[in-house]
Amino acid sequence: MNAGTEIYQDDILHLVRPEVRALAAYAVADATGLIKLDAMENPYGWPEELRTAWLAEIQDAALNRYPDPTASALTARLRERINLIASHGILLGNGSDELIQLLMLATDGAVVAPEPTFAMYRLIAAYTGRRYIGVPLAADFALDATALCQTIARERPALVFLAYPNNPTGNLFDAEALRAVLETSSGVVVVDEAYLPFAEVSVQDWLTRYPHLVILRTLSKLGLAGLRLGYLIARGELINAFDKVRLPYNINILTQKTAAFALQHHGFLLEQAAAIRVERARLVTALSARNDFKVYPSRANFILFRASPGRGPVLFAALKQAGVLIKNLHGAHPALSDCLRVTVGTPEENAAFLRYL
Ligand SMILES: *Cc1c(COP(=O)(O)O)cnc(C)c1O
Repeated sequence: MNAGTEIYQDDILHLVRPEVRALAAYAVADATGLIKLDAMENPYGWPEELRTAWLAEIQDAALNRYPDPTASALTARLRERINLIASHGILLGNGSDELIQLLMLATDGAVVAPEPTFAMYRLIAAYTGRRYIGVPLAADFALDATALCQTIARERPALVFLAYPNNPTGNLFDAEALRAVLETSSGVVVVDEAYLPFAEVSVQDWLTRYPHLVILRTLSKLGLAGLRLGYLIARGELINAFDKVRLPYNINILTQKTAAFALQHHGFLLEQAAAIRVERARLVTALSARNDFKVYPSRANFILFRASPGRGPVLFAALKQAGVLIKNLHGAHPALSDCLRVTVGTPEENAAFLRYL
């Protein structure tokens, strides 16, 4: 009986594609009881009056009905907020992660990204069976436009992903280098603006010039990570094509209502982002004052810094022991040895981080 069960399970496992079996699942650290500075979340809550108004807004949500499949009210509000030109459309995703997956499902051919970058590009490419080519960034994490364009010219990728600013390095790639990539690519170039509220620059103006430019954004880093709402901007024809591989009802009714409400009252979120930018400058100054760290410039809501050789993982563990969770990037990529990434928190959280450090 037992032996039979084992054979049965073995057979089932062999049905799992080898590229899926080979994957390490995306790991999320347990932050229970810790000051959480590991995941680029906004540390602030909502003002009391807004919370009350929001609860009133969602209290009559028809949970028994399927949500609007195209989330038309939310899409219209978003469109208006970002001043989108008429030729282009918006596709909503259950987080921008889902939109990255959707892009991989809808297209065929190689996928290229500079590295180190956002881990999901490689992970989703792997499980959707795509050939993925990572092109190393320069030593200071700038885009190596020459190497990237050579790879693009050789591989003719269907998708190129550029996080702008880049995660986990925090820097904004040079705009001219970005243009060079767009001029070289015949496939879709995805510029991932997840950190727009902290970078305050966008390539949205380039949409009319480059028909193959797709912009990805998310409300997660702005302060709504729990909602799971990302959006993709592209030419109308591309939106219609991509929309065919979107699961119906991927944006639930509570997310639709809440995001529309938040966008209507988004002043407080923008103020929180501004406070985070101020704290970011303070943190950079404090970290830079220590001569045992190399601190990288950041246009995002996190800071990458490198400890002296062998010290990165030790510091990470000691901080965690003291009650502060940041992200240990040592081992994630050869260029990130002894690197740690700290999300900008409240002034109190940042002070605790610096004190224990
Ligand atoms: C956090 C992050 C995302 C994912 O955002 P979600 O909308 O929460 O899925 C996408 N791209 C980059 C570069 C990120 O850092």
